[in-house]
Amino acid sequence: MKENFDFLMPSVNFFGKGVIEKIGDRAKMLNMTKPLIVTDKFLRGMANGPVAQTLASLDQAGVSYAIYDGVEPNPKVRNIKAAKQVYLDNDCDSIITVGGGSAHDCGKGTGIILTNGDDITKLAGIETLENPLPPLMAVNTTAGTASELTRHCVITNEETKLKFVVVSWRNIPLVSFNDPMLMLDVPAGLTASTGMDTFVQLIEPYVSTNRNEITDGQCIAGIKLCEEALREAVANGHNIEARTKMVEAEMLGGMAFNNADLGYVHAMAHQLGGQYDAPHGVCCAILLPVVEKYNLVAAPERFAELAKAMGENTEGLSTREAADLAIKAMRQMGDDVNIPRSIKAIGAKPEDFELMAENALKDGNAFSNPRKGTKEELV
Ligand code: NAD
Repeated sequence: MKENFDFLMPSVNFFGKGVIEKIGDRAKMLNMTKPLIVTDKFLRGMANGPVAQTLASLDQAGVSYAIYDGVEPNPKVRNIKAAKQVYLDNDCDSIITVGGGSAHDCGKGTGIILTNGDDITKLAGIETLENPLPPLMAVNTTAGTASELTRHCVITNEETKLKFVVVSWRNIPLVSFNDPMLMLDVPAGLTASTGMDTFVQLIEPYVSTNRNEITDGQCIAGIKLCEEALREAVANGHNIEARTKMVEAEMLGGMAFNNADLGYVHAMAHQLGGQYDAPHGVCCAILLPVVEKYNLVAAPERFAELAKAMGENTEGLSTREAADLAIKAMRQMGDDVNIPRSIKAIGAKPEDFELMAENALKDGNAFSNPRKGTKEELV
């Protein structure tokens, strides 16, 4: 538990049905004269989708823009270089990201190389950025990574297959938009994997060595929301109440891990994402019960509290028995939303384990894990 801490998040966060309409006016307030819209081809092509609605609001406010639509899942170094070129060719002065974690991280990465030097791989680590990024707003479309709120920028070096993180307060967008209406058409599989990422981002900060009283409260509130809404959002995507609760959970998780950090689930998921280009939420979801079962002995009373937040009846149980129920509930959540149980499902190969374990221990998320592991244990 940290007694002294700085609490970081964007200065303005729009939440709720229809808030996307405010983006044009907000761009004007920030003196954005030509933002670069950073997104992917699928979202750009969606009729009346998140990109179309963003552009409509900018048009209405009389703000012009350029578009980079080449974001790939697990965004690559080549994506941010291409986006930087579009920014420079069009004399842009700001960035608006539209999408999930990949679009936001690609936009942050583009901003980083515009003002902090061309080689982002050299900037991996904590507080490595000397210069501010161009003004940045983030329109979020998955619930989700919460990258629209965070100081993290996760990029994959396609040459080394290494996924790395640039963690800096300078990466935090000035304004975030979370409009649950934009998430009504997210398919069930994507709802499940991104929702499980949110679930993990509420559990890891709760057992992190860097947690504080504020993040503890956020984690418990967010876990309860996931329990109420994730299964329903997967089964009935058009249930706006479930979507809204998942956005609330996502924002709580983002605030929590932005300030209390994460653990081995994320440190190891980054290796799987980099090595096999696998969806981040699926990697996190498969690893969650396995890693937390390992962590349990380091903080059994924390896991007993988690069990209660997950709706388990812990009355009359010992701390250890209650803690075991938390691990069972995590596995049940994954099973209920069709997450595979083994990393074989994403093509993981035993011959890669040693290198991935070595790199996971160096990942920025590893340092706040409650139990310190060896390479052999991670393998
Ligand atoms: P994503 O951004 O990669 O999107 C996955 C797919 O979903 C894309 O094909 C996209 O077109 C589609 N999609 C997005 N919104 C949609 C919508 N509303 N309707 C239909 N389809 C939609 O997925 P993600 O899980 O949001 O982001 C994953 C990335 O974020 C990973 O690279 C991960 O490492 C990173 N991440 C970043 C942070 C951070 O704080 N920066 C935290 C966790 C994860």
